[in-house]
Amino acid sequence: MQIRKATRDHLPQGEGRRDFLRRVAVGVGVAGLGMGLADAGCGRALGQEAGVGLGVEERPEFRGRRVMLIRFGGGVRRRETIDPAHTHAPFVCRELAARGTLFPRMVIDLMEGLNTSHGEGTLNILTGRYDRYRDVEDGFLKARYEPKVPTLFEYLRKAARVGAHETLIINGEDRPDEEFYSFSNHAGYGIDYRANVLSLYRFKRWLLERRLVEGGISEAERRSRTEALAKWEQADPRLRGVSRQSPELEAFWERWEGTYGGSGLVNPRGDRLLTALARRAWKELRPRLLMVNYNDCDYVHWGYMSHYTTGIAVMDEGVRELVAMVEADPESRDNTVVVIVPDCGRDSNPLASVPCQHHFNSVSAHEIFALIQGPGIGRGTVVDKVVRQVDIAPTVGAVMGFRAEHAEGRVLEEALV
Ligand SMILES: [Zn+2]
Repeated sequence: MQIRKATRDHLPQGEGRRDFLRRVAVGVGVAGLGMGLADAGCGRALGQEAGVGLGVEERPEFRGRRVMLIRFGGGVRRRETIDPAHTHAPFVCRELAARGTLFPRMVIDLMEGLNTSHGEGTLNILTGRYDRYRDVEDGFLKARYEPKVPTLFEYLRKAARVGAHETLIINGEDRPDEEFYSFSNHAGYGIDYRANVLSLYRFKRWLLERRLVEGGISEAERRSRTEALAKWEQADPRLRGVSRQSPELEAFWERWEGTYGGSGLVNPRGDRLLTALARRAWKELRPRLLMVNYNDCDYVHWGYMSHYTTGIAVMDEGVRELVAMVEADPESRDNTVVVIVPDCGRDSNPLASVPCQHHFNSVSAHEIFALIQGPGIGRGTVVDKVVRQVDIAPTVGAVMGFRAEHAEGRVLEEALV
């Protein structure tokens, strides 16, 4: 595999790097660009690999900071997000960045065979490694990718006594392939340390299973529901036979049904649903590590820029709601770190018939950013350095107190104070 390290990025076309960075710094409300180098604080909470090799009960209790990892996806450019002159995300760009550390020059490395897309980007973030992925069963247009090194959820659950329901992925309703990113096939990790997934798909599945158990439905309905369930099981061949969620999640869906009913029509939809699920899950399940996989701005694939910019605004509002919830909760306020990072960038070719795709390996599809905010993180700092998407996983590990030992990235020490 050939990897070319990204030693430089290409800031917005037609504008100099200095202008862009100055605008970002002014938008963040700092006089200049800082580095904020400080102690990384690695292993502070758990000790290096504290619980590795221990049974569940023997693992130490988790006492580290909680992390809310927000995938600002699916696929955004710096221009419409962190550039104050063009942003559609005013909260993230102006308010939250001023309270955290912004890395405006994060990149996805150029690597032969690496696609800049949603599944790949999500796994770069979760594993700290780049890889070329193929669908596990070579399904047509499928993106069921199996990471070969542990995800953040697996590191955490192996190092400390953390339940599956305390490591959560919130997924979009029409992306069952993303159900697949909850664990790796790495020896010593894997399914026993997987995260739980919350999505409308999971809710429908829970509802279907429950209706079958309860009975009282016609034979025809029973048959059609059984067929639907079998079809959904195909989505993740690794989980056949172990598809039931933990009791905490079963109870979660029961309460969800109590609020929204079983039709799927009353609850919010799209990325607003993800915000609603994340808020409820944060309060009811108290996750240590929660990942929200926003994706609606990706509807720009249909050709309308407004789908993209509206999607960014909806995500921005979602981030505002989630941060406000954390700050209003005495149990979360002083021990929660929020990490925002896109899965990939988007193309900037103004001549393309469909704007802002991301599959053509263009420079701006590799250009992203990261914003980290919370206790122990520098405030109002803009780091003028090229950093890498694979740096997120080791940094989350450092914040929470474990080492992502198979990651190829580095801890973003510039954010830690
Ligand atoms: Zn896409």
